[in-house]
Amino acid sequence: MQPFKTILAAVDFSENSDHAFDCALMMAKKFDAHLMVLHVVSEQVDVDLRTYYGSTIPFEKLEEDVISAAETMMTDYCARKLREYDNYSTVTIGGLPYREILRTAREQHADLVVLGTHGRTGLDHMIFGSTAERVVRLSDSPVMTIRTRKPER
Ligand code: AMP
Repeated sequence: MQPFKTILAAVDFSENSDHAFDCALMMAKKFDAHLMVLHVVSEQVDVDLRTYYGSTIPFEKLEEDVISAAETMMTDYCARKLREYDNYSTVTIGGLPYREILRTAREQHADLVVLGTHGRTGLDHMIFGSTAERVVRLSDSPVMTIRTRKPER
């Protein structure tokens, strides 16, 4: 197996993906790899927002604003988490999370994709299915999934 040169970390800013991100960073440091940090502004959310605000805000403007807010969030996140590691880049795009993760991994020739086993919302899961499960099933690249253990009570 070749050393990892490009590692793709998929983040949705949840506690789980944050833990997975820390593991991706650790791997990047170990292999001196380029860390690509991806956030997908979920199409499903946009559909809800469109229905909600539809009559007052033009759809295109709303989408632009949501992506721009997500980009700011991503910049802040990376500034906080990657202080001592500058071999990274960020991608913030709209779409279906699993599809965009797979597409970015393919297009950027990621040697490893890292994600959490759980994401931000439980409800989305029940309705739309698991991003992690789909990426594991469909990815051409190796995938590492990280589960955040809750402390024993
Ligand atoms: P899920 O299957 O949606 O519970 O999410 C599992 C993992 O997939 C998360 O911990 C993230 O690493 C990744 N993920 C989920 N949604 C997104 C998203 N919108 N953008 C980037 N990564 C995501």
